Amino acid sequence: MTISENISPMMRQYLEKKQEYQDAVLFYRLGDFYEMFFEDAILCSRLLELTLTGKDCGLEERAPMCGVPHHAAKQYIAKLVENGYKVAICEQLSNPQDQKGPVKRDVVQVVTPGTVLESDALDSNTNNFLMYIHTDGQSVGVCYSDISTGLLETTEFTSQDYIKLLDDIIIRVRPKEVLCNEQTIELCGKLNTVNTSYVPAFQVYDGKHNNFNAAKSFLLEHFQVNSLAVFDVTDKKYAVLSTAKLIDYVYETQKRSISNLKKLVCIKDENYVHLDISARRNLELVENMSLRKKYGSLLWLLDKTKTCMGARKLRSLIDKPLANAKLITERLNAVEEMLSSYILRDELQELLMHVVDIERRCGKISANTIMPKELITLADSLMLIANIKNKLSCCKSKLLVEIYNKIADLTNVAQFLYKAIAKDAPTVLKDGGYIAAGYDEELDTLRSSKELGKKWLVELEIKEKEKTGIKNLKTGYNKIFGYYIEVTNGSLAQVPDYYIRKQTTTTCERFIIPELKEMEYKILNSTEEALKLESALYAQIKEALKKYIEPMLISADALAMTDCILSLATVATKNNYIKPVVSNKFNHIKIENGRHPVVEAMLNTSEFVPNDCTLDDDTTTMLITGPNMAGKSTYMRQVAIITLMAHIGSFVPATKAEICVVDRIFTRVGATDELAFGQSTFMVEMNEVANILTNATSKSLIILDEVGRGTSTYDGMSIAWAILEYIANNVKAKTLFSTHYHELTSLEGTIQGVKNYKVMVKEFNGSIIFLHKIGRGSANRSFGIEVAKLAGLPNQLLSRAKQVLNHQEAGALKTSVTTGGEIKENISSAEREVLNIIKELDINNIPPIMAFTTLNDLIDKLKK
Ligand code: ATP
Repeated sequence: MTISENISPMMRQYLEKKQEYQDAVLFYRLGDFYEMFFEDAILCSRLLELTLTGKDCGLEERAPMCGVPHHAAKQYIAKLVENGYKVAICEQLSNPQDQKGPVKRDVVQVVTPGTVLESDALDSNTNNFLMYIHTDGQSVGVCYSDISTGLLETTEFTSQDYIKLLDDIIIRVRPKEVLCNEQTIELCGKLNTVNTSYVPAFQVYDGKHNNFNAAKSFLLEHFQVNSLAVFDVTDKKYAVLSTAKLIDYVYETQKRSISNLKKLVCIKDENYVHLDISARRNLELVENMSLRKKYGSLLWLLDKTKTCMGARKLRSLIDKPLANAKLITERLNAVEEMLSSYILRDELQELLMHVVDIERRCGKISANTIMPKELITLADSLMLIANIKNKLSCCKSKLLVEIYNKIADLTNVAQFLYKAIAKDAPTVLKDGGYIAAGYDEELDTLRSSKELGKKWLVELEIKEKEKTGIKNLKTGYNKIFGYYIEVTNGSLAQVPDYYIRKQTTTTCERFIIPELKEMEYKILNSTEEALKLESALYAQIKEALKKYIEPMLISADALAMTDCILSLATVATKNNYIKPVVSNKFNHIKIENGRHPVVEAMLNTSEFVPNDCTLDDDTTTMLITGPNMAGKSTYMRQVAIITLMAHIGSFVPATKAEICVVDRIFTRVGATDELAFGQSTFMVEMNEVANILTNATSKSLIILDEVGRGTSTYDGMSIAWAILEYIANNVKAKTLFSTHYHELTSLEGTIQGVKNYKVMVKEFNGSIIFLHKIGRGSANRSFGIEVAKLAGLPNQLLSRAKQVLNHQEAGALKTSVTTGGEIKENISSAEREVLNIIKELDINNIPPIMAFTTLNDLIDKLKK
């Protein structure tokens, strides 16, 4: 909007600020309100259900306006941010009484979906990630951070399939806000996560550090280090650029120092089991596939954490399974130790239950938004930490000893806070009273003069009553006239001369006297001084706390890990899981009596039928056939989930498990979301299979559920056949392959490593009973019609289906089925004639030349 000449000075200032923050909703402070104008007002009135009014601002038409009281702004900002908007908060920076002309105002913070810190807008059990993607069309650097907890991680991919890897990391991190350089926008069309609207739209942010050297210097300055080698990113150009740009954006929006983003972790792909989009979705690791909710996911099952920090950590452990046998075993040993010490586990969980979210408290300390009450509960938690550390001192396993060593003694910080902050600190700052008595002498003096003043008033009332003889004389206070002496109308005749009239009400008169005025000045002055001093002291306390952010965050991380280990141990005991052996010294997955942990939890334990699995050099591929609904998918997912749980360091639902370290887990189990962006089910399937074939290695685990079913029977079968051959011969990955194409079972014996398995069922009275048991051999039928019967399809339809099936099985060449009618052979009369001629031929009694001409005739007939 162009700024008109006639516009009021306040509105001119508004429009100038709005110009700077065009992509944000501007919350413009006017007295006790934040006001929004023009399009922002229209948007906010709709989204926040606010009344839309107008303001005269010198223009022909009134400016659309709506507003929210400043003390209630948080919840409105949270709602806007939740809906993907940015909010620029423009504060008054000078006192309207102290100056002429418009009040000074400026934007003090821009709240965005990825940088929000307010608890109202954050889910306590999930990280809130901001992500930066930097690419040059050949490689990509990604940095993501939860600024509310201080987590900051980066990685880069320089391989050819960087787009695919980028998709995988986006699905793992699930960022709330994504920034990128211009070139990344060109990639968007190729990103599955973007096409399926899994991430918010990317926004271009170039920032100030556009080359490697500038980015490096900026990071050295930010982290206050001499070399980026401490973070292992010295030669990682893309990781460095993306990190610098992300941190730059945080500075730009937060407009303050960022004391909690001081540790950068470089994620190396080879340290973790790689899970692509489909594996994450299909195995329902952190959310279920249909509703995208935690319920029914592996996280839901394993999460018995007691702290928010633990809950977030567990999610990240599931998101990033380890690919290092030593580290996995260390986790498993820690879980085992906790599992065997029931009392210690119980005591620790009881303590953890009372620990607040130290990571997010540190975020608020860093942002200067922490409230005194939150500091008191933080201090309580810091005292608890000492207790937790003490309890962990008896632990022997390597990981628990490491955790013990990481937990800092922060009791001195707690003591400092107890000394500084009043135990019963109010929830708002404006009336003071949050700095503890005894913390600062000057404050105590100011407070006592205020208290003395109040006592003096009571004494004055008694003295004046005696002096004047007015029994109902009272002292009082109101904001406009200050302190006064009140005399009811009936006693006005007794009022002495030196009383100065100040206010008349219907029932009484109010007076002042010089000594009252003097005391008023002292009381009010000391109140105001005390408020100012409290605020200054509080700022100092917050500043002093900043230097403890690092040890607090390290301790918080150790507590979170303790919480996760306790959670895994609790789930393992409750569900009867065992400790798997994970190693790279052998090359097999052997599971005895494995169960699907989530299906088992949903059913009754006794109902779930356990199954074994052996994938080794002899059996690289299990080709699984069996009726619909028999349990093929459940079995295959179960093997993948048990393998994954072992890599997380969790005990597993089985009676014995030996699991070699895998590098990747791939699944192909059915498509849903992609249909929205114009790919057919079959196309999606082929894309996924292509990805598996390109990226799988002999160390991978592949789950393929009925590949090829999305096209014609013969095409589908041929493709499934060729895929199976390719994997078994070339990739040699451990593979579970289910199919209804029974023809494929003939591959056993012809391809090394392929073995047939079937899910067993019992036929009974024309119906089937599912045994859910896997055994060697191949199924000969799919029992589709029987399953359809169980599903309740109409009987008429079922008998028709049977009729078609029988005819097919009888071996008709081609059939045409007319609606509800006879099944007819669908061949032409010429073909029928040719067949009849062939049938009549007496091949032993015709001379060769005649046979030749007959054959020629037949060919002619068919050609015609
Ligand atoms: P389709 O071929 O139609 O895809 P499927 O053979 O893959 O079927 P699943 O979807 O795995 O069958 O299983 C069907 C149902 O059977 C599951 O929802 C589950 O409730 C039950 N089920 C599967 N395996 C077991 C088991 N081992 N013990 C008990 N119930 C099971």
